[in-house]
Amino acid sequence: MSTSPAETANHFRVLILGSGPAGLTAALYAARAGLAPLVLDGTQPGGQLTITTDVENFPGFADGILGPELVENMRKQAQRFGSTVRFEQATKVTLDKSPFTVETDEGSYTCDSLIIATGAKAKLLGLESEMALMGHGVSACATCDGFFFKGKEIVVVGGGDSAMEEAIYLTRFASKVTIVHRRTDLRASKIMAERARKNPKIEWQLNKEVLEVVGSREKGVSAIKLRDVDSCEETLFPTQGFFLAIGHEPNTGLFADALEMDEKRYLVVAHPTTRTRIEGVFACGDVMDPSYRQAVTAAGTGCQAALDAERWLEAREHH
Ligand code: NAP
Repeated sequence: MSTSPAETANHFRVLILGSGPAGLTAALYAARAGLAPLVLDGTQPGGQLTITTDVENFPGFADGILGPELVENMRKQAQRFGSTVRFEQATKVTLDKSPFTVETDEGSYTCDSLIIATGAKAKLLGLESEMALMGHGVSACATCDGFFFKGKEIVVVGGGDSAMEEAIYLTRFASKVTIVHRRTDLRASKIMAERARKNPKIEWQLNKEVLEVVGSREKGVSAIKLRDVDSCEETLFPTQGFFLAIGHEPNTGLFADALEMDEKRYLVVAHPTTRTRIEGVFACGDVMDPSYRQAVTAAGTGCQAALDAERWLEAREHH
């Protein structure tokens, strides 16, 4: 924890929601601008990097770096310059009057400017059995859990690049990986689809919907129930693991009425800035980026958001 003077007060000039690469880069820049920001961790401190292993595409680490280590370094760097990071979760945000109010599970804060970096999370199919068996044979993170499926037969659901990437990755551990997709055409890029098709350990169940994951918390997954989209025929497909790779959704539930969102509920900003439609509220990282979703792009927009907030605060104070 930092010992910034603002720490004792409940008012901050800059409050940042989220502590992934976007939030922590925003914090670093805001702190170096002397704004002593408060960062609220949220549900997943460090964000999605904490559930990955090797990060090989963050520039500056020629030999790669572990996701959790990368984000921990970012946190330390932000704190070194006077950011306060608190393990608290925002439960309500009021943006219709300035200063804005952020209520958390522990108390309440006000702020002149708000930077939203709440990120995104893996989408689920919405099946009861999927939730019940999460962590017991069902996973939404191949890099976190692949290791537990050594020598086993597993399923990856999805037809996009994530599904191809995760299926290919999982062949390192599994004896067989079956990709289940609800259409016959893949959404994945040609190169990724081709790589998956060429992999001898990958098999396909196309035009199939998953109706249920069968298993128990004690024994794990034993099968999935599939339905053919055309014939409606239902089959039981044996598998020991079930990985979801059907995309991500932004964490925007807190802003439902206040901010503009696109059809997939990503926050809309006034490109090329990070401004939302409310003056003094900025958004960065995966919560406003449905297409790139990289640690480095999140960090980049985090930097932009801090600069935008700094300039906005400065302009406001000079008027
Ligand atoms: P995506 O491109 O949106 O693909 C999601 C896939 O899941 C689609 O095939 C979709 O089916 C399927 N799906 C969605 N909801 C479903 C449901 N309820 N039931 C069954 N299937 C469902 O998501 P993504 O694969 O995560 O990729 C997101 C972005 O990141 C893309 O731009 C991608 O190129 C990029 N990315 C790139 C790489 C890489 O280049 N290495 C790796 C990962 C991601 P439909 O096709 O029928 O809609």
